[in-house]
Amino acid sequence: MPELPEIEIVARRIGEAVRGAEFESALAPGVNTLRSFDPPLHALDGRALVGVRRRGKLLLVDVTGDLTVLVHLMSAGRLQLFHKRAGPRDRTSRLLLRLAGERELRLREFGTRQSAWAKLLPTASVEEDETISTLGPEAWPDPPPFDELLAHPRPLHNLLRDQRVIAGVGRSWVDEILHAACLSPFKRGDDLDADEAEALRRATATALGGALDFYERTLTLPIPDKLPMPLAVHRRQGEPCPRCGTRLEAVFYEDYVMTYCPVCQTEGRVLKDRRLSRLLK
Ligand SMILES: [Zn+2]
Repeated sequence: MPELPEIEIVARRIGEAVRGAEFESALAPGVNTLRSFDPPLHALDGRALVGVRRRGKLLLVDVTGDLTVLVHLMSAGRLQLFHKRAGPRDRTSRLLLRLAGERELRLREFGTRQSAWAKLLPTASVEEDETISTLGPEAWPDPPPFDELLAHPRPLHNLLRDQRVIAGVGRSWVDEILHAACLSPFKRGDDLDADEAEALRRATATALGGALDFYERTLTLPIPDKLPMPLAVHRRQGEPCPRCGTRLEAVFYEDYVMTYCPVCQTEGRVLKDRRLSRLLK
């Protein structure tokens, strides 16, 4: 599940590798992947790739002639560079950007759902696209003060993943950030005191920046399908807390899991397991 550090390293590595490359053709084999119609995809033919950027959890591939391919990987998408072209039977292909020299920038998606998407837009209008215009400030490298940013009567676990509040954090890194700041996932944003808000702000930038440093040291192209995310808490329920040694606990939701340390984060309370309580109803 790619979040800010995973998207950032992809933008950097692929950007370095294909800057200046010329587009030969582009195809969208995904059923509903291309969510724009003007300009058409063949407007890319013959243009050159200027660079790859990131905003929140989105990738932006800039192209000469003021065009940008905006890509949202959603939960199971990957943007990868290949040195040979996808065969017609490759069922993971959603968007194929074919570059000179037989290279191919491929939006792939794993699993049966097709939710990753792309739009080809004039660069100047990207900021007006609602997925970009509604993004909150970037969670890294230097997010603004959290006391105002998170002043909502909603739990931190939910607020930090809300891209309109702060951009870049998802289900994996939120657990690491809240653990690092010693805060309960259910504490409300408007209940943070000034010290807690600042600790959370620092923990956010540090966790995401630390992950990015790790990827900078360890990842080269081709970037693997499954990134080796340096997570110390998320999905490690049952293992000892890296800080205090207490058994990490988890709350299971329909499609994700929230992991936390009862001693470091919830004053010793073990929170209700939603999955279990549903079964007992
Ligand atoms: Zn602990």
